[in-house]
Amino acid sequence: MNQSLTDTANLLAALADQAKTCMKCALCKDRTNVVFSSGDSLSPLMFLGEAPGEDEDKAGSPFVGKSGQLLDKMIEKCLPLKREQIYVANVVKCRPPNNRVPQIEEIAQCFGYLQQQIMLVKPRVIVTLGKVATQALLNVEEKIGKMRGKVYHYQEIAVVPTWHPSYLLRRPIARWDSVEDMKVVTNLLSVPG
Ligand code: URA
Repeated sequence: MNQSLTDTANLLAALADQAKTCMKCALCKDRTNVVFSSGDSLSPLMFLGEAPGEDEDKAGSPFVGKSGQLLDKMIEKCLPLKREQIYVANVVKCRPPNNRVPQIEEIAQCFGYLQQQIMLVKPRVIVTLGKVATQALLNVEEKIGKMRGKVYHYQEIAVVPTWHPSYLLRRPIARWDSVEDMKVVTNLLSVPG
């Protein structure tokens, strides 16, 4: 391990430890685990979801349930990286009750963790999965259907919004859009930089 890799991994581990005892919002009351991240902390690619569901809350890892299985398939079929080579996190680190959409206040309280994760991982591309992740990261209110198909930026990092895997489970035809979005991601990753 070189020095910068060790430093990044250590700083992310310290941040994850801090999040483990976080009580900034009421979601801490019912959580089993804080779901901080999975994957490679020096990845050029980050996937950003909304919030953990029941399976993720139990496992302490993002995207391990049905949505995660579809995400795995999409990665395997469409991207030049393996799932474990991609840094995966959610906007909100604790499960909202009954999988409801996270509230604005919960997103705001958790956003500092995400900002630090992005600052440390320094991905070249972030894929935002669904409306909540896209709107929270880019600080916009447009619908995901209007936003996907274009490349945005968070600081210097390219952001590619796409459908959330749970939407793709309900609407399989939309998977073709995600295939196109992953082509854009592959192209962005292939540009030296
Ligand atoms: N949905 C998300 O947005 N994140 C997860 O980790 C699981 C399901």
